[in-house]
Amino acid sequence: MKIVIIGGVAGGASTATRLRRMDEKAEIILIERGEYISFANCGLPYHIGEVITDREKLLVVTPQKLKETSNIEARVRHEAISIDRNKKIIKLRELATGREYSESYDKLVLSPGASPIIPPVEGAGLPGVFTLRSMTDMDRINSFLLEAKPTRAVVVGGGFIGLEIAENLQHRGLQVTIIEMLNQVMAPIDYEMAAMVHQHLQFKRIRLSLGDGLKSIHAEKLLKVALNSGKIVETDLVILSVGVRPESILAKDAGLDLGARGAIIVNEHLQTSDPDIYALGDAVEVKNLISGKPANLPLAGPASKQARVAADHIAGRPSIFKGVQGTSIVKIFDLTVACTGLNSRQLDEFGLPYKNALIHSSNHAGYYPGASPMAFKLLFSPEGKLYGAQLVGLEGVDKRIDVISTAIHSGATVYDLEELELAYAPPYGSSRDPVNIIGFLAGNMLRGDLKSVNWNEVDKMDRNLNVFLDVREPEELTLGHISDSLNIPLGQLRERIKEIPRSKRVIVYCQVGQRGYFGARILMQLGFDAVNLNGGFKTYSHAVGEQSNFDTFENVSISSREEIQEIAPFNMENTNEFTLDACGLQCPGPILKLYNKTKEVNPGDIITVKATDFGFTSDVEAWADRTGNKVLSIGSEGGVITARIQKGVEKKEEKSTAAMSQDKTMVIFSGDLDKAIAAFIIANGAAAMGHKVTMFFTFWGLNLLRKVNPPKVKKNLVEKMFSFMMPRGAEKTKLSQMHMAGMGTEMIKMIMKKKNINSLPELIQSARDNGVILQACQMTMDLMGINKEELLDGIDIVGVATMINASDDSNATIFI
Ligand code: FAD
Repeated sequence: MKIVIIGGVAGGASTATRLRRMDEKAEIILIERGEYISFANCGLPYHIGEVITDREKLLVVTPQKLKETSNIEARVRHEAISIDRNKKIIKLRELATGREYSESYDKLVLSPGASPIIPPVEGAGLPGVFTLRSMTDMDRINSFLLEAKPTRAVVVGGGFIGLEIAENLQHRGLQVTIIEMLNQVMAPIDYEMAAMVHQHLQFKRIRLSLGDGLKSIHAEKLLKVALNSGKIVETDLVILSVGVRPESILAKDAGLDLGARGAIIVNEHLQTSDPDIYALGDAVEVKNLISGKPANLPLAGPASKQARVAADHIAGRPSIFKGVQGTSIVKIFDLTVACTGLNSRQLDEFGLPYKNALIHSSNHAGYYPGASPMAFKLLFSPEGKLYGAQLVGLEGVDKRIDVISTAIHSGATVYDLEELELAYAPPYGSSRDPVNIIGFLAGNMLRGDLKSVNWNEVDKMDRNLNVFLDVREPEELTLGHISDSLNIPLGQLRERIKEIPRSKRVIVYCQVGQRGYFGARILMQLGFDAVNLNGGFKTYSHAVGEQSNFDTFENVSISSREEIQEIAPFNMENTNEFTLDACGLQCPGPILKLYNKTKEVNPGDIITVKATDFGFTSDVEAWADRTGNKVLSIGSEGGVITARIQKGVEKKEEKSTAAMSQDKTMVIFSGDLDKAIAAFIIANGAAAMGHKVTMFFTFWGLNLLRKVNPPKVKKNLVEKMFSFMMPRGAEKTKLSQMHMAGMGTEMIKMIMKKKNINSLPELIQSARDNGVILQACQMTMDLMGINKEELLDGIDIVGVATMINASDDSNATIFI
């Protein structure tokens, strides 16, 4: 049997060698238009980036080697130009000479791949504008890098190849701009997952433009890349990576059936509409195993598996290729991004009802060094059938995506994920692997144990019908919060349940979703209509935040791999340096650890924090911004983020700048126990977030500051009456409601004690320890005849003007 194979790389070369293993006697001829066969196209971007330094390593097999080892004749620089199906002849052209000749075949295999799409815009063919598919393309780009010494590059297209090239060009010292027409990079994953990639690209100093297409390219001194919005990017080099198109012209001209997107239609044996012609790889349309719809998946894995099936079938075996499910993975700087199955957009398009679970989990036990978080999204049917998964993380993403891919392939459900027995020891995983955890979460949803809402529903919700409950600790609020949320830390939820309106649906959230789930379960069991925010505030904040940095990007040339931009610390004498290891802690762990450390050190001291939670890169900047500290530098190497933070110094002159003050002023008018507790909880919370808090006590509120056993002071009759009738100090205050002759008040105090909640005197002391300024109203003291000696020591006695001054400097004045 004589078999001619067109295309000598991933699919073609694999078909040839498998065929030889199946049929020692067959005559096998491999035709390749390019200069090389069987090269590693997937490695091309990494040679450009000098990660794979030895070019020869990309050449897996040479024609000579193929002849020696497999007795296969490979003809490079030969192009197939037409097929005569009746005569079973293929016409070939020798590119070096232009000679045309024919070759007969018994079976013909087409593995011509897919060619990069060149957008039909002016300037796409200019010098300095490239695509990347072959070794020759790679060599051209490398020569340009060496000869023209460009400093800037524009990558058009934010798919797999575009992102790999962007990373590798930056590795070569170029400043890279990515232009993407969609509102996200990495189209196979959902928007909120891509948002984490956007953050990371920005952190890595990639200039990112989303939702804006390429209009034209002009050559002046430099290349000027014009976008549809009218924006212009100046650059030295452009890489076009806007997708690929099946190379099906040969098949089309031969009258073979093509699909809607121009890919060659094949059956499960990879036979085209002509049973003697097989086709495979990037050029064909196969079945999507989940949707059952036609799919064209230009990836190496399917191509090489199809090669085996086609070769087996030619050799007389009944092998079949069932279809694809779209499993892929890509490295984007420190991140690994992977997906399998269908995404939300495809499920919507196919009209398949689905649910999703989103977790942020550690790759292995948090206590074992080097743990890092991964965002993990699972899509499944209301019956539990697995539809797809997406992961973004530093480590362990490859393992989880392959587990889910295998589960989908074997028809498993979310309930199977709960049961999967996965390998565990602290360096590799957790006793409840993220795969199990996402199975539990999905199972909870399907069993009705948990209802959830997604990040994109939050801003549309009617606040008359919904209330947001933030169950994070007050310190975490520095990371941002959903507006008009009620903050009750999870540990206080049961005691403070009365603060939550029963008339509304309660949307519970925490940073990553786990405490939100616990909170939602408490509320559901207490009869509330409670739901959890899927993926927590972290997912929401990433997704609603600014995704592009095109307009704000500083035009800094990157001359080395170092992305740490050092800001000079402010000039301080006796500055001490501290280190803090927050590796392995999940958000908000690193921030809380840093916050506690800043409390221990002096203003001006510098803390170098190491963390592996990649959300820390944006969190630390937001936190520092809000707490008056300064991020001196931030960078990452091998997934470990290093940030240098200088503890802030209050600078008087800065108060008058345009920056919004975070100070809080509270006017305490009431002397009721419940209101006083609320006031001091708020004050302590605000102080913990680094806000300056001033509490001005007036009228009945002043009683809170009275000593229980004051020294004897001289008073007139009316003053004595007031002194006697009014409660003396925090211990003596009563509830505003349900005092019940003292029973209610005593009960509350008892419950607070039992639940380990600080008493009012303790809350007052803690506020004072946290630097809250307590002011007594001079006018009230005069009116009621209260003397300075009767008040707690160290209270400022001030007039209204002082309070008004404090209020002017604040961004909120609270009246209780
Ligand atoms: P190809 O491997 O492209 O081979 C087709 C060959 O056919 C070409 O060399 C072409 O010159 C030749 N040819 C076409 N027409 C003719 C003709 N008329 N006559 C003679 N010869 C012809 N996939 C992954 O899964 N993971 C990755 O990380 C990954 N990275 C990639 C990075 C880059 C830069 C590129 C370009 C691709 C990457 N891919 C990756 C995709 C993967 O390389 C392809 O899916 C795979 O090579 C497809 O195999 P194929 O045989 O269909 O086509």
